[in-house]
Amino acid sequence: ITEPKNIGAKMKINTDFVMSINGEAVTTEQTQPVFNPATRSVFAQVPDASKEQLDQTVDAAHRALKIWSATPADDRQAALEAYADLIESHAEELMSLLTAEQGKPRAGSEWEVLGSVAWLRAVASQRLPDEVVEDTEERRVVTRYTPVGVVGAIVPWNFPILLAIWKIAPAVMSGCTMILKPSPYTPLCDLKLAELAQQAFPPGVVNGLSGGDDLGIWMTTHPRINKIAFTGSTETGRHVMRSASETIKRVTLELGGNDPAIVLPDVDAKALAPEIFWAAFQNNAQFCNSTKRLYIHEDVYDEVRDALVEFIEQNVKVGNGAEVDTDLGPIQNSMQYGKVQDYFKDCQDNGHAFAVGGEIDDSAAGWFVPVTLVDNPPEDSRIVQEEPFGPILPLLKWSDEADVVARANDTIYGLGASVWGADQEAIERIGRQLEAGTVWLNEVHQYSPFQAFGGHKQSGLGCENSLHGLMEYTNWQTITMNKNAG
Ligand code: NAD
Repeated sequence: ITEPKNIGAKMKINTDFVMSINGEAVTTEQTQPVFNPATRSVFAQVPDASKEQLDQTVDAAHRALKIWSATPADDRQAALEAYADLIESHAEELMSLLTAEQGKPRAGSEWEVLGSVAWLRAVASQRLPDEVVEDTEERRVVTRYTPVGVVGAIVPWNFPILLAIWKIAPAVMSGCTMILKPSPYTPLCDLKLAELAQQAFPPGVVNGLSGGDDLGIWMTTHPRINKIAFTGSTETGRHVMRSASETIKRVTLELGGNDPAIVLPDVDAKALAPEIFWAAFQNNAQFCNSTKRLYIHEDVYDEVRDALVEFIEQNVKVGNGAEVDTDLGPIQNSMQYGKVQDYFKDCQDNGHAFAVGGEIDDSAAGWFVPVTLVDNPPEDSRIVQEEPFGPILPLLKWSDEADVVARANDTIYGLGASVWGADQEAIERIGRQLEAGTVWLNEVHQYSPFQAFGGHKQSGLGCENSLHGLMEYTNWQTITMNKNAG
């Protein structure tokens, strides 16, 4: 791996980033700029893959598939563990690169990079052994799990490392080969991940290509890519599903969310405030699973709102993630910054009250947005109904349990939800009525490689992590043998 130079340095553009195709480092004449969101300046350039390069990569991945799919699981595990070691030994480099391109402060970068290492090691231990369904005098019936083939992995810009690893690890462990396509906004760490993979896997097993959204379209329509593992917005997910239908590709879709959190009247507001703050604002709220609607029981509404405001005013610093005391970084890119500005304007235009924040200073060096709480806007307002993907959270009042459950479920999304309160029976009763892939009770953002993760409704299709997630990289095959013939 080449050391990235000049990260964050003014005027010098880092051009060390390469694509990985069939074990080779590949560049292109045309390149694309990468911005540091804390300074709004270009600090790196990356290759811009052509359609021909995608074809070459798919060919290489198919050649590698013949060997890799026949490689014993224990050897695949050893390669995956070697890959985890490589990432761990380059952790510092990846963490500063992640902060520079994504904007997240050091603590978030550390969580993501070291979490990815742990993830790789855990998935390496997972197995899908043959299942004997029947073994009688007459017949032996076995279900086995064969690799689905060449996987196209398409990743967003909010957690570029972790969400790539969530795809690389199960793809490679199940015997597939793959092509990783990062978001054009955050390609650097993912290109480095693919480059490092060349030291751990045979050529063609893990390939990395950078390019624009059109590269994503070429992948989802490519006749020789067998599966698309996609994380991104629900809107793009619809395009992916449509394109994939042409060749009946397998798809895993991890899409958007509008997670509700329901707060019961028996909470300790002061103790709850930091929990709810991080539920909503972790990664500067650029998080599929951020709490995006906070339903507070009317008896404790003022108390919880005021505790949140106090926590934010006393503890939270928004700034450049490269500075040690920063808690929340900038919005990652100008497109998303524009969308978030639009949500602020919509709240202002409609006269919604702000408990804290509410004004964006557009003259700041980076795409910074103040932490903002919207005080009890109408249920049908945009800030409640849509996914802002930025640090602006609506607080809403409730009094009737059935009503709050209905409001929480009244959305096209179904990714996550949480319920908070001292009465464990009540929080579980409410939690079981919520339509979401993950329901957290008195905690949030608790993930594990052994825990299935995915969305209900338009938040996704299929899942990642656990043996269920691993299975999504396989075709099941039934083999039946008549023992009394032949
Ligand atoms: P996005 O949908 O704009 O882009 C995601 C990826 O898709 C990028 O790599 C992009 O280049 C590619 N792409 C764009 N158009 C494409 C097309 N037509 N065909 C194929 N690929 C295409 O999403 P984003 O803005 O990068 O990420 C934010 C969204 O992702 C939010 O909605 C968030 O909730 C969601 N998200 C979901 C999860 C989850 O696990 N459910 C996790 C993180 C983010």
